[in-house]
Amino acid sequence: MNIDFYMPARLISADQCVKTGGDIFKSFGDRCLIVTGKSSAKFSGALEQVTETLKEQGIAYSVFSEINQNPTVDSCLNGGQRAREYGAGFIIGIGGGSPLDAAKAVAIFAANPEFTAADIYTRSIPAKALPVLLVGTTSGTGSEVTGVSVLTDSSSGMKRSISGADCYAKVCFLNPRFTDSMPMDTTVSTGLDALSHAVESWFSPKSSEISKACAKLALPKLYRGLFDIYKYDRLPGKKARDELYYASIYAGLALNITGAAFPHTIGYVLTEDFGVAHGRACTAFMPALISRAQEFCEDRLNGLLDAIGTDENGFIDTVKGLTDVKISVPDGKIAEYCKRWNSKTKNFLNSPGGFSESEAYKALKTLSGI
Ligand code: NAP
Ligand code: FE
Repeated sequence: MNIDFYMPARLISADQCVKTGGDIFKSFGDRCLIVTGKSSAKFSGALEQVTETLKEQGIAYSVFSEINQNPTVDSCLNGGQRAREYGAGFIIGIGGGSPLDAAKAVAIFAANPEFTAADIYTRSIPAKALPVLLVGTTSGTGSEVTGVSVLTDSSSGMKRSISGADCYAKVCFLNPRFTDSMPMDTTVSTGLDALSHAVESWFSPKSSEISKACAKLALPKLYRGLFDIYKYDRLPGKKARDELYYASIYAGLALNITGAAFPHTIGYVLTEDFGVAHGRACTAFMPALISRAQEFCEDRLNGLLDAIGTDENGFIDTVKGLTDVKISVPDGKIAEYCKRWNSKTKNFLNSPGGFSESEAYKALKTLSGI
């Protein structure tokens, strides 16, 4: 067995974990920059818990709430400058994947004053970075446990991720109660993202005993939670919120070992040009992924269906129903997108039977039928 497992973030989980974690905050310094989106850090109650704890500990803080969804590199560059001007010794990211990913990039820019925006993609890895602490408020990306930050390149408008040892948090406070305030749309889209992570990882040629164990923990919880939302058209209760949140962490652990497959890569264009939320943009290609699995690794597909306790039609119906993406991408646009990819594209190689630009063309072409 070849094992290469690295996930250095400390995970602390409990209802009041932010409040009881004061000593941990203190160990990172006496000044910090809090990185958030516009409002969810407040709605979720997470910001208040963090700032109360910081005050109790005598830690000075400043809030940088300028992170939008699909954060741009430029906004992270600004955050890094703000952190330096404030003299922050560490960064706390609060929110969904967007602010959490941005916090990782802000920490790198803060520690490297000479960096231009483009340098984040060409830095030598690991680059210097301020310590990052994260508090998640969505049950989707698993950014808490991945060494990845997905950024929008401000010059091209394209989503491009960075990864490496400098993209891990030091400590994450896991409290599903911070996800209770998510409305239906965000609950569904982030849950679909987590499902996509678990499924893509499950089918990955790079999957290992550890990644499969993590995916197997995540899959039934995610499917059950999402199926109930679909069937009863109501928000999850407390127990289901708990399950969805922890499952998103397990799915993130699986993804962090294997990486993603083609749905994440081609899904980016639906977000960039059609404003489709990330999770839905990925599961729009779940039927194509399942059909590849059926062709190239039927045993694994059966293992997945066993784990979630349904058949292929039931699974596809639920995912399609929740994804609800019907987009007609003009042929010229599809051809333009396909120039970005070829059969050696990292996530294409990481798909059952591989994947190519002509298959991506077909998958984008059939989208309007979903
Ligand atoms: P998000 O973009 O962080 O947030 C989506 C929306 O939900 C925002 O309007 C946000 O508000 C709101 N929101 C967040 N938490 C809420 C809460 N508790 N209550 C009410 N509203 C809430 O969504 P996300 O799906 O978690 O993150 C998506 C990003 O992560 C994408 O850029 C994606 O590419 C990336 N991603 C990263 C990884 C990784 O490994 N690092 C993996 C997959 C995806 P605010 O704007 O006010 O915060
Ligand atoms: Fe994702």
